[in-house]
Formats: sequence, C-alpha cells, structure tokens
Amino acid sequence: MDVLKFGGSSMGNTKNITKVINILESYSQKEKVVCIVSAVGGITDKLLTAGELALNKNEDYILEFENIKEIHYTVLSELIPSENEAAKRYLDNELNYLKNLLDGIYLINELTPKTSDKLVSFGELMSSFIITEAIKLRGIDAHRKNAQELIVTNSIFTKADVNYLATNKNIQDFFKSNSHALTILPGFVSKSNIGEITTLGRGGSDFTASIIAAALKVKQLEIWTDVSGMYTANPKLVKQASPIEELSYQEAMELSHFGAKVLFPPTIQPALDSEIPILIKNTLKPNEKGTLIKTESGTDSKKKSVSGISSVDNIALLTLQGNGMIGIPGFSKRLFEVLALEKINIIFITQASSEHSICFGISENDAELAATAVDEEFEYEISTRKIRPVTVEKDMSIVALVGDNMKNHQGISGKMFSALGKNNINVRAIAQGASEKNISAVIFKKDVKKALNSLHESFFEVKTKQLNVFITGVGNVGERLLAQIHQQNKFLKKELHINLRVIGISNSKKMYFDEDGIHLENWKELLSSGESASLDGFLEKTNVLNKRNSIFIDITASEAVSDMYADYLKRSISVIACNKIACSSDFKNYKNLKDLSKKYNASFLFETNVGAGLPIIDTLNNLVASGDKITSIQAVLSGSLNFVFNNFSSETKFYDVVKEAQAEGFTEPDPRIDLSGVDVARKILILARESGYEMNLEDITNKSFLTKANLKSDTVDDFFETLVHDEKHFQDLFASAQKNNSQLKYVAQFNLRKTSVGLEEIPQGHPFYNLEGKDNIVMFYSQRYPEQPIIVKGAGAGADVTASGLFADIIRVSNR
Ligand code: ADP
Ligand code: ASP
Ligand code: MG
Repeated sequence: MDVLKFGGSSMGNTKNITKVINILESYSQKEKVVCIVSAVGGITDKLLTAGELALNKNEDYILEFENIKEIHYTVLSELIPSENEAAKRYLDNELNYLKNLLDGIYLINELTPKTSDKLVSFGELMSSFIITEAIKLRGIDAHRKNAQELIVTNSIFTKADVNYLATNKNIQDFFKSNSHALTILPGFVSKSNIGEITTLGRGGSDFTASIIAAALKVKQLEIWTDVSGMYTANPKLVKQASPIEELSYQEAMELSHFGAKVLFPPTIQPALDSEIPILIKNTLKPNEKGTLIKTESGTDSKKKSVSGISSVDNIALLTLQGNGMIGIPGFSKRLFEVLALEKINIIFITQASSEHSICFGISENDAELAATAVDEEFEYEISTRKIRPVTVEKDMSIVALVGDNMKNHQGISGKMFSALGKNNINVRAIAQGASEKNISAVIFKKDVKKALNSLHESFFEVKTKQLNVFITGVGNVGERLLAQIHQQNKFLKKELHINLRVIGISNSKKMYFDEDGIHLENWKELLSSGESASLDGFLEKTNVLNKRNSIFIDITASEAVSDMYADYLKRSISVIACNKIACSSDFKNYKNLKDLSKKYNASFLFETNVGAGLPIIDTLNNLVASGDKITSIQAVLSGSLNFVFNNFSSETKFYDVVKEAQAEGFTEPDPRIDLSGVDVARKILILARESGYEMNLEDITNKSFLTKANLKSDTVDDFFETLVHDEKHFQDLFASAQKNNSQLKYVAQFNLRKTSVGLEEIPQGHPFYNLEGKDNIVMFYSQRYPEQPIIVKGAGAGADVTASGLFADIIRVSNR
C-alpha cells in the first residue's frame, strides 16, 4: 500500500490538481493507494481571514466567503465539466453551512478556538471531496473517507494531541475492510473523543499522513509539495539552496522545528516510531529525486558536517537575570513549570551561569503572557531584588545549523559566527544542543535573509563567493569599470568562483538599484529611469538591502562622498575609493577610517589613489606586512605633469600643451590642482602614511614651478591667460634643463627627514630620465632593499587602467 500526501502549495489551481490526479492514477495502477490532501492552496488562510473579519464586524467577510466559493466552483467545473449536479449540490450544502457559521460569528461577535477549528475544517473537507469526484471520472475505484471519523484527539483546539490508541485502532479497522483501490482523506482535520471538531495545527496534513502510514505500517510515506525536497535552506530566501538527498529523522526534525516549513514537525514522530522512511517529492516536477528521510545512516565520514540551515521568525527573546538567581531553589524548574502551565512552547534556551542569567526564545504572540506569568511566579524574588523583572526583546529570529555529523567536525560554530560577524549580523544568544546536532543563534529579524545566505555560502557554496557592489560616480572611469565587470563576469565565476553583481549605481543626478544585479548591457537606460540621487539615500538603500559582502565604490572627486565612508564601514560595508580626498585629508580622519575598517571587518582600499591601476599601494602594503620598513620613496606620480613636460619644448607653447592635456582628460578638470603640485603632494602623503608615518599635507614642502601670477589666478580661464603671458618663464625652465642635458620631471620624495614635491632637472642615466608619455614610476627603498629599490613603473593615468585598478581592489576584498 502506498501513502501519499499532497499539500495545498501544489494544489492551488485546476492545472496543478490535475497533476495530482495524474500521479494518483499512475500509482493506483500498481498498488492500493491512500491519499491525504490539504485544502486547495491558500484556502485555510482565507477561511481564517473571513472568520477574523466577521468577528470584527467587518462585512468584507462576505467578499472573502464569495472568493472561497468561487475558487471551489471554478475548480469543480473545470475538473468535472459536465454532469456535475450532484457534486455541485454537495458543495452548495457545505458552502451554505460555512456561510451560516460565518454569519453566526458576525452576529455573536465571537470566534473561539473551537469555532475556528470548525471553520478551517471546510477547506480539507471540500478539497478531498472534489478530488475524489474528479478522479472517479478516470474510471478509478476511488472513495473518500472522512479522517474525522478516524483521528481521535483531546480537546486542545487548533493544535490537538492525538489519542494514538483509539486512532490506530480506527485506521486499522477501517482499512482492513476497505477494498477501494484509492482512498482519499482530508488531512489536518480530526475529532475529539467527545465528537467536537478539532485540527492538528497549521500544516497538519503532513501529520495526518504520517499517522495513517504508521498505523498501517506501510513501507514508505510520500509527502508531495511544491519543492523538490527539503532544501539546504529555504529556497524562497536562499536562491543557491539545493535539495538534500538524504536526511536522518533527527536532522529533519531539527530542521522543521527550526522553520523548514516543508514538513510539519510532529510528522516525523509516528514515522520514526515505526521506522517508515519519508520521501518528499515535487508535484510540479515529479521526476526530480526529492529527499529521503530515514534512520541515521551511521557516521558516514563522507557526509557533510552541516546538512541544512533553517530559520524561525517572530521570536521574542526573554531574559531573566540577577545576582541572586543562583540561590533560588528550583529556579529552572519553577520557570519552566510556569511556562508549561500557560502552554507556552519554548523554542530556544540558553543559560549563562557566570552571569546568572537565563534566556529563552518563544513565539512573539506568547511574549506578554509569558512575561506576566514569569514575573508573577518570581514576584517575591523580584521585590527583594534577587532577580530583575523579565526583559522582552521582539522582532527576533532564530537561525539554526543542523547536521548529525557536526559532532565529528571541529570549528563549525567558529565558522558560523565568523560568517555572521563578517556580515555585521549581531548575535543576541547562542545555543548548542547537547547532541551537537544543532547550533542555533538568535538574531534580529531584519538580518535573517542575509544570515541564511551568508551561512549557506559559507557551508554549502565554499566555492562561490558573492560580492555585491554599489558604485557612486559612473562617469568615464565608472563606465569603463562597469564594462570590465560585464566582460569578466563569466571568467570570475568559472576561474575565481566569484559571483560579482552590481546592485546600485549613481551619478550626481540619478541612482538605480536592482537587488538581483543590474543588467549591465543597458545600465545607462536603467540609471536614467532611476530615482533622484542623494548620498544619504544611496547609503540608506545599501544598508536596507543588507547584502552580504557589500562594497561601496567611490569614483567621484567629491568631498561630500568621501565624508560618507565612515558610515559605510560602520555597517561592515567595504569601501573602495578612487577619490583621494579621504586618504589625504587630516591624519585623524584617515586613521579613523583605517580603524573602522579593522573594527567592522570591512576592507578600505584605495589603490587607484596613486598611479591609477599600478600596484603601488599593494606592493607597499606587502612590504610593510612582511616586516620591512620603508626608508625612502622617490617617485614621479603625476601622469598629467609628465605628459606636459614630455611634450613641452622650445618648439611648443606651454599654454598649448596644458590645453591639450586638459582636453585629453589627463588633468583634473581644474588643471591648477595638477600644475600646482597639490595632486602629487596628496599622493606622496598617502604613500608615507601607508608606510606607517603620521603626516599631514602641511608637512610636505611644495616648491612650485609656477609664477606668482599663475598661482594667484582666480579662475581656470585667468590661469590659462597667465600661462600665455608667462611663456618665457617656462621656456627658461626648459632651456636650463636642456643645457644641463637633463629632462624636466615633477618629482615627489619622501625620507625620514623630509617630504617634498617639485620640478627637477633629471640627468641622463637616472631611472626617471626616460619616463615616457603619462607613465608613473615609484622607487621604494627599505631596510631589505637599501641600495637597489623596488620599482613599480607603468601607465599612471587613463580611464581603462584606473578602472582595472578598482577591479583589482574588488578582487582584494573578495580574498580578504
Ligand atoms: P504544502 O502546502 O505542500 O504542505 P508548505 O507550504 O507547507 O507546502 O511547504 C513547502 C514550502 O516550504 C516551500 O514552498 C518552501 O517555501 C518552504 N520551505 C521552507 N524551508 C524549506 C526548506 N529547507 N526546504 C524546502 N522548502 C522549505
Ligand atoms: N490546510 C492546513 C494549513 O494550511 C493544513 C495543511 O495544509 O497541512 O495549515
Ligand atoms: Mg505544509
């Protein structure tokens, strides 16, 4: 005999109910079949809503009723298009009764748990009837049996306890004499031993099926639903989750207890007691393998340490603490007794003896009741200040790692809390079962999705790491970066196991977000359709999306943007800055950002601040990290000044060359920033700081080669005019260098005595002499490299190389 249960999730419409009928037809050709069905998808919720509306004197309950009626009539007439009068009459009858019940609730203003059970029972009664009638049309010997006549419970309405002795006897007696090929029963519904209508709890059809399977001692129980098994995590919250092939009863019990809704937790017990394996299958994809739940398969060394991750929402965390707690006789016993008396289910307990506190997690709905009951129980101890009144924290959730094999692996909890910590998920309480099959943590509800995804990535996707990028400033360099990300994405996934997604982009006017990753082929259109840009709005949205491994990238030259870095880092969002302002600002600010980066475990990287894409800061960081000490730095760090002096000669005009550099985008929009040496000073400052020296911009000597008139100009246009006027000054600089067989280079120098920037005549043979175009060069002298410096040289300006420098920083974040 086969026992199959079909849940409402895979029976929401005629198309899916037909799939159920097809499966039943093929099974019943081989063996006798017992089928348990839920209400049509969503009906139980609708019945409860209608009841609530009626109770609250809201006449919309009639609309809800009409909707329930229409859904059932539609399914009936689609499944049985002709000669369905008898079936319609039955349905009319049921619906009339239902309508009367709702009218009654409306009139007397009362909806007791007892009436609620009567109300919801209509869902399963109607669905089982319709399906039986429809399947008979296929010529199958089908029969409906009302499970209320078999399943006997006590009178705890809405979640009754089963009287197994009576129930098993009823089931066995009935099936002994039942000769039908297919018997269909409504799940979830039952009756008390004095004949009142009861139910087994939300999701209880699974339980009905397990009770029947166990009573009949069948070989296997099949639970058919809308997913292909029990997944490594809730597939609605974790996209990367996948079905687990096999689980032990214990594991399935823990996972469902901690929120894996696919199986109603009490379902496991009857199956376990009779050692009946449970197979979870997908009605919509019947060929997929599903999950098999059975007796523990021993300690298989190949089995994963963690089998699945689940979560329960709407948890309240109650804490009872006080120095006098240890001296109170039978403290725990009294606490748990009072909760049991109120029928409050404890989902989570943790006790810290050193702090004399006990913390327990319960459903939020029970929080007030529990707090009052516990405070009353300990009234005397509270009044004598031995303990403090209970504190209640709401909006919490529990995430749990489950696996029989966890006990054989070290470091699981370390890995769990490091994954949560890295993503700035605050853990309020921790509990580990003595059997080490479960580690659970209480966190804030808003963090659940991120926590599940982070843990899933950490335990099941060791190979792929997701990076979520938010970019401000999508001009020239930003555009190149997006193009590079778009082009490299497949490679990153395949070769580096990095799933890089751009979630937010912004320019000064607009910002646009896509939680699943922006389509980079048309980001420009998407951005122009976005909302108005705002720096706070961008931060807020990045924060609310609450993605793991988030990276904020600043490709602006704006001080206001650089002022936001601390806010990002404090939320454990890494910052990659192309913008130099923060790192060359006041030392305190720079240091604060570096400290925040450590404290919140978020990277703060700015390779492109110096030499665009050249690995200058990276080289420096590696030297310092390996214990070397930088003693001096000599460098040509301005691509734009290099361009200017490489093209300037007695044949050209200084003005023309600067104009050209500006037009080519080699200078800042205001070329004075480059020509005054400020930009180079900022860069050497950053290198000195990264070498470990506390320094500010004022500590750098800047010998300007510009004239007083150049320096005094108020606007960019004025500045250009003074360049024309002072042409002779520049020609003199050139002539002097030529006479000395030298090249003009704008050089930055750092050593323990002095840091300076300025124009110098570089003689032939010097490493700087042949520097071409807009190349940069840096020479690091250190304790390990005292004579022959480490030299980094190459293109130090340009949108493409700058973008690739940013890209390299992104990869560095992922390697963190
Ligand atoms: P049914 O109506 O068939 O009883 P349910 O809605 O009760 O179905 O349970 C199936 C749902 O359980 C899935 O659609 C899924 O959203 C949810 N779910 C939560 N956690 C898990 C998990 N770990 N594996 C599979 N499904 C899960
Ligand atoms: N129909 C009931 C519910 O929605 C029982 C079930 O589907 O298992 O809770
Ligand atoms: Mg269910």
